[in-house]
Amino acid sequence: MQDTAGQDSSIYPIKGACQCGQVRYRLLQAPAMVVCCHCKECQKLSTSAFSITAVVKREHLEFEGKLQHWERPADSGNINAAAFCPGCGNRIYHYDPQKPDVIKLKPSTLENTDIIKPSKHLWVSEKQNWFEIPEGVEQYSKQADLTEKS
Ligand SMILES: [Zn+2]
Ligand SMILES: [Zn+2]
Repeated sequence: MQDTAGQDSSIYPIKGACQCGQVRYRLLQAPAMVVCCHCKECQKLSTSAFSITAVVKREHLEFEGKLQHWERPADSGNINAAAFCPGCGNRIYHYDPQKPDVIKLKPSTLENTDIIKPSKHLWVSEKQNWFEIPEGVEQYSKQADLTEKS
């Protein structure tokens, strides 16, 4: 299982940006965990087979530029809020307005994506049939608690 303790901290901060460059940010420390979500909503969001989320403390991120916000109710009954660039529409992160200290960063927007090492796959019940989940990672048929360390 992936542990932040084993990661090389000298590569931080890592810069990130949206597709048009209006939103820029810096990730100051390693995420608590990285997960893939195969739910239908994430397939729409990513326009791909699954989305990738890095769970990061708010204090470990510095943002520049204008972000627009949008909310939808999650399956759990919580609110799933999203922050995106109003210019290019690139999704930057998700969050629960009740827990604003936890940011679910979209790490594909980072310059250095070597840190993307997913340890959990969520919502495999809605996964595309052709995608094979790698061995050695945790699988959940639906949601999992992302506030605990893996
Ligand atoms: Zn943009
Ligand atoms: Zn999802």
